[in-house]
Amino acid sequence: MLSDTLRRRLLDALGDGALLESPEALAAYAVAATPLFAGAPAAVALPTTTAQVVAIVRACGEAGVGIVPRGSGTNLSAGTIPDRGGLVLCTARMNRILEIDAANWTAEVEPGAVTASLQAAAAAQGLYYPPDPGSQRISTLGGNVAENSGGMRCLKYGVTRDYVMGLEVVLADGSVVQTGGKNVKDVAGYDLTRLFVGSEGTLGIVTRILVRLVPAPQARGTVLACFAGMEEAAAASAAVIAAHVIPAALEFLDRATIAAVESYQPSGLPTDAAAVLLIEQDGHPAQVADDLATIARVCREAGASDLRTATDPAAADRLWAARRAALPALARLGPVLIMEDATVPRSRLADMVRAIDAAARGQGLRFATFGHAGDGNLHPTCPGDARDPALMARIDRAFEEIFAAALALGGTITGEHGVGLAKAGYLPWRLSPETMAAMRAVKRALDPGDLFNPGKIFAAPRPRTGSALHA
Ligand SMILES: Cc1cc2nc3c(=O)[nH]c(=O)nc-3n(C[C@H](O)[C@H](O)[C@H](O)COP(=O)(O)OP(=O)(O)OC[C@H]3O[C@@H](n4cnc5c(N)ncnc54)[C@H](O)[C@@H]3O)c2cc1C
Repeated sequence: MLSDTLRRRLLDALGDGALLESPEALAAYAVAATPLFAGAPAAVALPTTTAQVVAIVRACGEAGVGIVPRGSGTNLSAGTIPDRGGLVLCTARMNRILEIDAANWTAEVEPGAVTASLQAAAAAQGLYYPPDPGSQRISTLGGNVAENSGGMRCLKYGVTRDYVMGLEVVLADGSVVQTGGKNVKDVAGYDLTRLFVGSEGTLGIVTRILVRLVPAPQARGTVLACFAGMEEAAAASAAVIAAHVIPAALEFLDRATIAAVESYQPSGLPTDAAAVLLIEQDGHPAQVADDLATIARVCREAGASDLRTATDPAAADRLWAARRAALPALARLGPVLIMEDATVPRSRLADMVRAIDAAARGQGLRFATFGHAGDGNLHPTCPGDARDPALMARIDRAFEEIFAAALALGGTITGEHGVGLAKAGYLPWRLSPETMAAMRAVKRALDPGDLFNPGKIFAAPRPRTGSALHA
């Protein structure tokens, strides 16, 4: 519960209707998209201006009440769970697209602007904002920046970090800093923009975002290639890159994922295939045609049993809708779906697929795996049931083995979902003590009172024991 003094200060700053304390509101903001995690916020603030964010930060800082920044709550690392209570600061009402600058190819938005609405605003001017997390129709730019989110187009276009040119950020003392700007070249001082991108709400509250846009591609087309095994599909995706084609997207779904998608949203995926690759190219029509022909040839040589090419946008969209349905389709398979995003250098994709298979079989579990083959970013998933602790412990052990295997292959514990609470115990597996100390020093320097998203990213190291999932 908020103290009377803090409530008064927050109400003075926010006005009526922007400070939520009802049990229903607190219950709604106690959880987010990551299953098995919940907290208990004292209140939820819905600011509309940077000045209001400053007032919230000052009031909470003086009262010693932590702030959990939140966009749409779609993160998959429990990054918005108020597990230590405190105030949830939700940016839903700071959702304006402030400018599309067609001369400089930039856009400026408030942090609560929805990713797809920026993409639509850019498209209306013939421009393109490529980062496309699967949650783009609901996720916010603030969340994308704080998680450095990826998507299907990372292989060719990069991740959110590659598009952020500048930020406005409210720091823990209530000061407001501006980083970067519209200059293509600007090396004046430290690159604070990069520091804040991916900082998961632990270093400051982002209140404005300047992103780079690119010209919209003139044409696109998609190849669907079916394989008799995951290993063949992994080898084919490596062969596409080896042929010096950089597709706009190179995604895969395994047999279990295909079956789940087809029963959830029939899309014409071949249910008899062990794995499919969905490969998109975009750009100049002649280049797209050339690349699609190369992709089809390489997949055929790699053993594809069936190949379909869709150059008509509606047909291609149907295939991509199937890929986007993977997560909701799999989520129906059990009371809870555990999904991770272990990532390896793309040359090790086949090894990682084998390791996932071995970990699942070793624990007697049925996994479904899909993901961004071109980025080596896999999403192994397993349906679970929190009422069955023995099952959850087996799932936990399987994922531990998967993380350990990814690290042994030169990979990482998370390619795009972030650390938050869910992976905090695993971070010391990935980073050396010296690197962890450097990161803690950055946190202390910018947020000495641990005001922003306390408890996220840094936690006690997790022993490799397979102890209860997400304790
Ligand atoms: C169906 C589905 C598909 C997904 N697909 C992808 C995918 O393809 N690629 C991918 O990378 N992720 C994906 N995600 C994860 C998630 O959507 C992304 O992490 C997304 O960027 C989160 O945006 P959000 O607005 O929901 O942020 P939230 O979940 O609300 O917040 C995410 C983090 O950002 C911080 N934060 C939010 N706003 C601010 C701010 N203004 N200032 C400072 N910190 C802030 C929060 O504290 C939290 O740590 C998917 C999730 C779902 C549910």
